[in-house]
Amino acid sequence: MSESLNTNSTDKAFENRLRPKSFDQFPGQDRIKDNLGIYISAAKKRQEPIDHILFSGPPGLGKTTLAGIVSEEMGVEMRTTSGPALERPADLAGLLTSMQEGEVLFIDEIHRLGNVVEEYLYSAMEDWAIDIVMESGLYAKSVHLTIPRFTLIGATTREGLLSAPFRARFGILERLEYYPPEHLVTIINRSASILGISIEEDGALELARRCRGTPRIANRFLSRVRDVAEVKGDGTITLEIAQQGLSMLGVDPFGLSDMDRRLLQTLLQHDGGPVGLKTLAMTVGESDDTLENVYEPFMIREGLISKTPQGRKLAPRGYDILKAKPGGTTSEGTGNLF
Ligand code: ADP
Repeated sequence: MSESLNTNSTDKAFENRLRPKSFDQFPGQDRIKDNLGIYISAAKKRQEPIDHILFSGPPGLGKTTLAGIVSEEMGVEMRTTSGPALERPADLAGLLTSMQEGEVLFIDEIHRLGNVVEEYLYSAMEDWAIDIVMESGLYAKSVHLTIPRFTLIGATTREGLLSAPFRARFGILERLEYYPPEHLVTIINRSASILGISIEEDGALELARRCRGTPRIANRFLSRVRDVAEVKGDGTITLEIAQQGLSMLGVDPFGLSDMDRRLLQTLLQHDGGPVGLKTLAMTVGESDDTLENVYEPFMIREGLISKTPQGRKLAPRGYDILKAKPGGTTSEGTGNLF
């Protein structure tokens, strides 16, 4: 994955420092915040844990952050794990039985939970109990474990991979959307003030316009462009510094990364497509999973590419950016466009 788009949480400390702790510090996703506010008040009134929640949407939009805020607002601890980490039912049983009443269990990448563990979760979510089989063969015995009432918060970039019975067990399903520039400017200014970075209004807007609607990427750009401001300027992120820093990161004026541009070029070379996901992935040298979940959702939303049953196609705005026409050759060549 290209460096500027690397949305794996490699720098946890940096992320945690910038992570909002309350709804007031969390700009954007207004509908979701309103809904959660109501569910939290209602649960508190009834003195019950809030219903199980599933947050879905592309990486870096705030799913983990919202899970933390829900726990904070409910006044409970949050335990964090991930789908791949819960390999065996015993891992799940150990975690659940050590929880306190009302606590939140946050499972990131919940679509990667194995089938067996997922099925154990069903009874935990519904009946606050699991029957776990210890040993095997002749010595197998089933142990009934009761669990304190807890809230499961799952996060997924691939809601479609969750089985219907699993999805049905979440009372609250919320899909996060990409952020418009005005919310990203607020996020960038807040992060700049936490990190002690001086940034001008148009510098912040430039980062906001080019970060693929994603706060995690906005924060990463901010910290990288700050270095440019310190070395090439007087430490303040101005419009010029932001532009210079972003082009050093391989982000073009449209906010597209090298990989986005390669994807568009590949489709153009195939007469605009359709090109199958696997072929595309092989051509650009990226995993099909990353293409589908990290790059594509934004490119589809921006009208750069479209998804058809036959494969991916170049969409009208994709042609415009490449200065090309469907069925024709490029008007000015594409070689030096970016
Ligand atoms: P996800 O779990 O969806 O991948 P995270 O919740 O880990 O995303 O957020 C990634 C980073 O972006 C964190 O540093 C977080 O603080 C920041 N972030 C996400 N959404 C917002 C927001 N609405 N306001 C401020 N910061 C945000």
